[in-house]
Formats: sequence, C-alpha cells, structure tokens
Amino acid sequence: MKFTIKDKFNQELPADPNRTNSRRQVFEACFSYVTPRIPSAPKLLHVAEEMAANLGLTDEDIDSQEFLSIFSGSSVLAGTAPYAMCYGGHQFGNWAGQLGDGRAINLTEVEHAGKSWTLQLKGAGETPYSRRADGLAVLRSSIREHLCSEAMHHLGVPTTRSLSLILTGDQVLRDIMYDGNAAYEKGAVVCRVAPSFIRFGNFQIFTSRGDLENLKKLTDFTIRHYFPMIQAEGKQAYIEFYRKVAEQTLEMIVHWQRVGFVHGVMNTDNMSILGLTIDYGPYGWLEGYDPDWTPNTTDRQSRRYRFGQQAGVAAWNLMQLGNAIYPLVEEVEPFNEVLQAFQKNYRTAYLEMMGQKLGLTGAPATFQDLVQSLETNLQLTETDMTIFFRNLADFKRDDEESANAWLDLIKEAFYKESEVKESIYEKWQTWFNQYHRILQQEPNTDQERRENMNRVNPKYVLRNYMAQLAIDAADQGDYSIVEELHELLKQPYAEQSSQGKWFAKRPEWARHKVGCSMLSCSS
Ligand code: AMP
Ligand code: MG
Repeated sequence: MKFTIKDKFNQELPADPNRTNSRRQVFEACFSYVTPRIPSAPKLLHVAEEMAANLGLTDEDIDSQEFLSIFSGSSVLAGTAPYAMCYGGHQFGNWAGQLGDGRAINLTEVEHAGKSWTLQLKGAGETPYSRRADGLAVLRSSIREHLCSEAMHHLGVPTTRSLSLILTGDQVLRDIMYDGNAAYEKGAVVCRVAPSFIRFGNFQIFTSRGDLENLKKLTDFTIRHYFPMIQAEGKQAYIEFYRKVAEQTLEMIVHWQRVGFVHGVMNTDNMSILGLTIDYGPYGWLEGYDPDWTPNTTDRQSRRYRFGQQAGVAAWNLMQLGNAIYPLVEEVEPFNEVLQAFQKNYRTAYLEMMGQKLGLTGAPATFQDLVQSLETNLQLTETDMTIFFRNLADFKRDDEESANAWLDLIKEAFYKESEVKESIYEKWQTWFNQYHRILQQEPNTDQERRENMNRVNPKYVLRNYMAQLAIDAADQGDYSIVEELHELLKQPYAEQSSQGKWFAKRPEWARHKVGCSMLSCSS
C-alpha cells in the first residue's frame, strides 16, 4: 500500500499538548493525538472497491495483511499521527458543551488523482472525548453505516464514504433500547472517508469558550482548503463562507427529501461543514410517505428530527453556526440575509426537485398545487414513497386508453389495499386528471419523461428491513447479504430486473421490529 500522505488538519492547527488518552476537557486545541486500540482478532468483512480505487488502492493492496492491519487499527501508517477532533454541539436543541470524536480516530489525509481524503476509523477505541462511553462500535451499526454511506453516494447524495468494514473480534456491551437489557454484541470498525470531517460543532466549541483566536485559525483553515472559490478577505470572506455552507447544506437536504432519507440525529455535531451526510446512526428511509416519521426512538416524543422537518432543523443548525462565527464578523445583518435566503431558496429548490420527480419541466408555479395535493394524497393511506414515484414514470399521457390506468400503476404502493376507500380513489382520480392536464403542456414524450423520472426516483434504496436482513445474517457469520446489497445499491436507478425482490414494500414482520422501524442512538 502506497499512499501520498498530505496531513493538513494535524499539521496546521493547534494540537492538545497532553498526549495521554484520558477523558477530559480540551482547551485551545482543535484535536488530541490518540492511537487506535489494537483489536484482538481482526477480520475483513467487506471493502467498497470503488472507494478503494478512489484512494489508488489495488486488489493486491486490499488483500494485503497491511490493509487489515491499518484499517482495523492494529498498526499506524508510517509518517502519520492519528488524532481525535475536539468539537461541541447542540443535541436535540440544547447546548451540550464539549463532545468531540468519542469513537472516531482520524488516521491521516491522503491525496490521489487530484483529490484529498481523510481516512477515519469509527469504533477504534476510546479517546479523550469518549466521556462515559467505550469508543467502540458494534457490527450492526457498522454494517448500517458502511452500506448506507455508499448507497447514498451512488444515489447522488453528498455524503461521507466508507472504505471498509472489519470485525474486531472483541465483544461490546450495548443496551439497544435503553431498557436495562444490555447484551454483548460483535465489535466492528468502519473506515470512513471524506475530504474533511469538520462539523458545525468544531466552530461552536471555540466560541462557547470565548477562544476567538482558535476560532479564527480553524475558520481560515477551512476556507483555505475547502472553499478555494472564496477570494474575498477579512469579514467578507467569513460571510461568503457562511453563505456557501448554507448553500451546500440546502442542496444536501433537498436530496434527502428526494430519496426519502431521514437522518434521525441532526445535532450540530452531526452537521458537516461541507454539506455531506455524516454520522449514520439511527437513520431510516421512508417506507410509507409520512412527513412526521422519524426512525429515532430517542426522539419519538418531540419528533424534532422527523422527515418533514429536516430543512427547518438545518436552518436552526445554520443559525447556531452563524452564532459561532459571528465574532469574526460582528454584524448581524449578513447572517440574517443568508438565513432568509436559505428559507426562500429551499422552498424553490424543493419544488423544483418535486417537479423533477413528477417529470415536469415547466415553471414551478404551474405545478405547485399539484405537488401539494400529491403530498396530501400520499398520506391518505400508507403509500410507499419509492414504489409510488418509480411506478409513476410509466404513466401514459399520449395513450387515451391508459390515461385511466393510473390505478394499476400506484396500487402496488399501497400497504393495505383494504383501507383504500372509495373517497381515496376519488382523490387520486382528481389528482391524476390534474397531472394529465399539466402533462399536456409538456414538450417531452412519455418515453423521455419516463427516462428523466427514473434518473431521480430510485428503484432501490436501503430499506430499513434490508439492512436488518444483512445484519441478522452477518451475526451468524454470513456476509453474503452485505455484499448483495452493496452491489445492488451501486446502481439504484437501474432496473436490475433480476433484483426485483428488493423493489418491494416493507414486509409486515418489519413494521415494529427493533432495528427496522425502531432505532436508538445506542450503537
Ligand atoms: P452521535 O449521537 O453518535 O453523533 O454521538 C454524540 C457524541 O457521543 C459524539 O461526541 C460521539 O463521539 C460520542 N459517542 C457516541 N457513541 C460513543 C461511544 N460508543 N463511545 C464514545 N463516544 C461515543
Ligand atoms: Mg456524531
């Protein structure tokens, strides 16, 4: 394995001088040096080959003992100095103080083919930021992170990536539902990859402590390396930086709404400064379309992080980021402008995205009502979001006879057909009449519209129960479903007709099962 190592974060930013691995508050530093824990019997379960190729790794590299050794945390690459980042965050709306990489250790930054990547192990043991926890991750949550981050990438959603999934051979104690029933589970380590893992919380921690010197260092560093398009200097540069972060965050959220992804824990420590989906914990995918749904059992009361609220929470989080970098600007107005633009631009971008899902190319104002009534109709009875939009692409405008064949297209998406009363059919009939009318104004043929729609409406997503099937099999030592789903989700928009079994509604057994519809932060 030959990497071009170009460490920036731990070379250019202030380090914690304390090198011991004891849990503590860390001041005036962006990170603490820490060495990964040595696992007792590491075993490579899966490698995302495309990600490996992005790093310049060959098949031989992947098969090498060195690969297993480095990415399990058994040894440290020569010339590198692994570290855990110091950050804070608002958790569920409350300021939580110092959090930091409690179970993530950054190995190094490497360059390949003109791109820079940070390699980070998740679950490689305790760090100064582990607080009361163990710094470990279990196989279950590691499979979920490994599969989902790669699936999101192939869906075209900005995200951190995952290189490898490795069993540590160690046991980890977890109380999944926080009900006093703790049990041992298999431990695992994932190697996450991203240009940077800097979060909103990295900026917040300094401001909360009045450490403006380090706030400025970190912000200048972030702009210098990750926002090279910003030419301005001084205050203007910070405002532009803030605007760019808002724009990239907005783009990410629109993608989440497009594919039906619910993050589940949008705390400010889980918000990437690069607008990447980060920290796959109790995330989930909409099955029945329901803006109120959240996969996170820890959040079942307030439903702060529900599907329909993700843009609102992103705006709230951006406001907190604004508060964090305010001392570098000392003017409120520019921040307010960015936040107002976020709200307005989100509405437009969301509507345009929904128009694409419907195959419409006209001005958004012409289909605003159609989108609104669609959102209402999708909630009349439990209706599978993915199947609905995918099947809708087969709607025929030009063929009079099948203009009324809409029911055959969408009924596959209904979870309980017996619940679909006459009044519901009537509402859908009205909607399809309206859709048909709007389609009359469209320049595209049925075939062209179908192709466009199938490029934005995935056929395959990582349904909650699918990940659970992979987990249950892996627990028994069978990793074939991990591999099968990884392959399937590399081409989420392709028909892959032989994989039809994965284009199906959630089976009844998964409706209330832990891991499928119920997930907690305990991973
Ligand atoms: P999360 O909700 O997963 O984003 O985690 C919130 C904070 O708790 C972060 O600072 C994590 O690093 C930390 N954390 C979560 N799980 C563990 C664990 N098992 N060991 C140590 N720290 C953890
Ligand atoms: Mg986190």
